[in-house]
Amino acid sequence: MSKSITFQSYYQATATPHTLHPPLSGDVSADVAVIGAGFTGLSAALELAQAGYKVVVLEAETIGFGASGRNGGQICTGFSSGQQKIEAQLGREDARKCFALAQESKELLKDRIARHAIDCDLRWGYLHAIPKPGHFEGLKAWKAELDDLGYTDTQVLTRPELQEKLGSSLYHGALREGGAGHFHPLNYCLGLARAAVEAGAVIHENSRVLEVDTGHRPWARTAMGKVNAKFMVLGGNAYLGRLVRKLYGKVMPVTSYIITTEPLGQNRTKALIRDGEAVADTNFIVDYFRLTSDTRMLFGGRASYSTLDPSNLAEYMRPRMAAVFPQIRDVKIEHAWGGYIAITHNRIPDCGRLSPTTYYAHGYSGQGVALAGIYGKLMAEAIRGTAERFDLLSRVRHLPFPGGPIRTPMLAAAMLYYRIKDALS
Ligand SMILES: Cc1cc2nc3c(=O)[nH]c(=O)nc-3n(C[C@H](O)[C@H](O)[C@H](O)COP(=O)(O)OP(=O)(O)OC[C@H]3O[C@@H](n4cnc5c(N)ncnc54)[C@H](O)[C@@H]3O)c2cc1C
Repeated sequence: MSKSITFQSYYQATATPHTLHPPLSGDVSADVAVIGAGFTGLSAALELAQAGYKVVVLEAETIGFGASGRNGGQICTGFSSGQQKIEAQLGREDARKCFALAQESKELLKDRIARHAIDCDLRWGYLHAIPKPGHFEGLKAWKAELDDLGYTDTQVLTRPELQEKLGSSLYHGALREGGAGHFHPLNYCLGLARAAVEAGAVIHENSRVLEVDTGHRPWARTAMGKVNAKFMVLGGNAYLGRLVRKLYGKVMPVTSYIITTEPLGQNRTKALIRDGEAVADTNFIVDYFRLTSDTRMLFGGRASYSTLDPSNLAEYMRPRMAAVFPQIRDVKIEHAWGGYIAITHNRIPDCGRLSPTTYYAHGYSGQGVALAGIYGKLMAEAIRGTAERFDLLSRVRHLPFPGGPIRTPMLAAAMLYYRIKDALS
């Protein structure tokens, strides 16, 4: 990664007041060492601490520093790859079980928010908007597929129906989901961390793991200490870098950018997204947007595989937002930030074991807000001795990305290809 992307995000500016956790100091023993305090690591930590395991979480920066505290906050259904790719690998019945796990991930998130009283602006409702009239038949097929999977809380909207809900003339229809939605991801992440600590987990922030042993008796070393553990969970996702050689190359970091406007007021926001759903278009290079609880437009997209950060991010993003909502083209943009999404070749998350005691899950491919929670929970389940559900997901095979100097130029070329494909489809 050429540069680190650290701008002031809307989420940081509106984060729930929270306790800071001191760095690791000295050598400690634990049942489970968890690397990374994002949704994956914290989900595993919470489950294991609740089950009585001694859990130590090591976070290089602060809780939610990675994708979990920066994302679009969109709680999505299923997998970024779509069902067919999973079915091609695992067969119809097991692919259906995977979809059921993805559905469970949204329930898990909802339950945790309720059980741990996490204040994170949760809201249900999601629109997948099509940019071309020719895509309308595809929406009907998509609904039929979801119906067949047992998820029927969806509705195909024609262009006039969509225009009653959305103040944009860019789209030609949509699939509306009642069982997907949005929230404030950093506040959810902080709430998850609080719940894990209340259950007995210990979190160390500013504790970057510099060296790990992922063998039979795993350990993790930071600048000031070491955790010796019986099990290890690797939840570093796109931010793990080259720490674990066997995982580097399994995912590729892709940068996505987000802006939020100044507060627009209830009347103006109602004219933009009448019922407050999350919205995403169905392009390969997705625009995604939603309203915040304090009436701002939060608009994301413009993935960059080149990992170069535009010098003036807000103005780089403004034309995308203005293309969808010309009526807010000139409003003030108050926050702009970016983060790394970890993608896999086939867009199906990658999980497995590096040894009988070291587990990993990553590569949710832009759709990890809900999924990371279930992958973390399933790693915890496996550590507790019931690995059936984790093993189902870990059967998916993945091609590595090339390493070395051709890595990002190749992805940049792929990106150009998908831009052209979006324009022509
Ligand atoms: C801009 C953006 C928008 C997105 N929008 C959406 C969306 O709307 N909906 C959706 O479903 N998904 C979205 N995603 C993806 C989603 O946020 C992720 O899939 C999910 O948060 C992954 O969680 P995680 O815990 O696996 O990884 P992360 O949240 O990235 O956490 C990894 C953590 O590990 C830590 N770490 C790494 N290396 C070390 C080390 N050596 N030592 C200690 N700690 C380490 C990092 O500091 C980081 O905090 C988006 C991602 C981005 C970046």
